[in-house]
Amino acid sequence: MGRVFLFFVCNLHFLFCIAPIDFKVYDMQGAQSGHNVLIMSGIQGDEPGAYNATNLFLQYYTIKKGSVRVIPVLSPHSMYYNSRGIYGDLNRKFATLSKRDPEFGVIQKIKEQILKAEIQAVFHMHDGSGFYREQYINETFNPKRWGNCSIIDQDSINVEPFGNLKEIVEQIVAHTNTGLLKSFHKYHIHNTHTAIKDKQMQKSLTYFAITNGKPAFAHEASKTLPLRERVYYHLLGIEGFLQAVGVEFERNFDLTPKTIASLINDKNLTLTIDSSITIPLFHLKSPINFFPIPLSAKGDVQNLALESKSYILGLSPEGDFKADSMVFLKYGNRTMARIKPLYLEFDKSLEHIDIQVDGKRQEVKIGSILKVKDNFYLHNKDGYRANVIGFIKPNDIAKKPQEFDVLVQKKAMLKKFALDINAKLYRVEFYKGNAFSGMILVEFE
Ligand SMILES: [Zn+2]
Repeated sequence: MGRVFLFFVCNLHFLFCIAPIDFKVYDMQGAQSGHNVLIMSGIQGDEPGAYNATNLFLQYYTIKKGSVRVIPVLSPHSMYYNSRGIYGDLNRKFATLSKRDPEFGVIQKIKEQILKAEIQAVFHMHDGSGFYREQYINETFNPKRWGNCSIIDQDSINVEPFGNLKEIVEQIVAHTNTGLLKSFHKYHIHNTHTAIKDKQMQKSLTYFAITNGKPAFAHEASKTLPLRERVYYHLLGIEGFLQAVGVEFERNFDLTPKTIASLINDKNLTLTIDSSITIPLFHLKSPINFFPIPLSAKGDVQNLALESKSYILGLSPEGDFKADSMVFLKYGNRTMARIKPLYLEFDKSLEHIDIQVDGKRQEVKIGSILKVKDNFYLHNKDGYRANVIGFIKPNDIAKKPQEFDVLVQKKAMLKKFALDINAKLYRVEFYKGNAFSGMILVEFE
């Protein structure tokens, strides 16, 4: 009976029964007013060049004049699964769509964003296969490929400003081509003449935009290129677009694939869960066992907000959704660790811990990462317990139920309990009764 019931609840056409995760919207406002535009990526989850580009744009650009609204990931869910679309292709749902489609609500929300009165132009980013060429050259370079081109649906629409789509896309392509890494990367303009020639594209986001009076441009980087180069061309495309529409900006790094790679793989990136736990994003051991996650997120970890400098982080349950599933820590479409969650009530009453680090006493905030040479000593905090994960207590205190008022030495740590692959990072957890009061990480040199 259960199975039959499931059949009716979930349309089997769709892989998953869970509601799509809402996308997030960010505004970058210039000090000076000017034109207002919307930049979007991640409508298809397997296009990391696009959402890694908007992720860096949000972190490392400042708008001086005008404003930019950014939606880095239109389909977080598909991104976590590195799938074009776990509910089908989201970019083919803008013309007509059944109300029973799981993404019906998502489409309404995207349309609302595009139609907002203040938005004057839309820039929509993708990673496409091969390299677009007007004439067939070979399998990789031909009119059916989408990589490295800028797309308009027609030459112009009858709105002011920016209805002159062709002139603007010419500027975008010209700007992108000032930075070519290899001559065959050359960008071309691809006018799809959607209204007369392209039934499929009539269902797309940009066509919805232009038929509703919003100038729209799509920008594609080739999936043939490594991530750093896709992001590089996408950022060139964004810059060309912003210049063409008169939005002024500043970028605080050298635009090269090498710098981009170092920003994407920034070893200092961390994430914070519920202001109680901060862990690094890189070099984590996998799986991480019995890791505290707020009880309120049980069965819904994909909607748990993580604080981070990065805009494309999230937790995602493994496989089909069950409350006790393993959880993936995702950075875009990359899996940084698998976590076996321990769902606990998070108690927020503890703010600081009094610790002696290598003989020096200090107050340490819950949720910090603390560097230690050889040893540390946690001073007792009434009403709480301390638990140093992986600490083997010396014989004389082996029966002590917890680790306040104990000297913890590096040599007493069991490496298999380390949080990271270098076996330097250890968890120190605090509890009040059955509730979790937060964590600090100790990083041994
Ligand atoms: Zn795409």
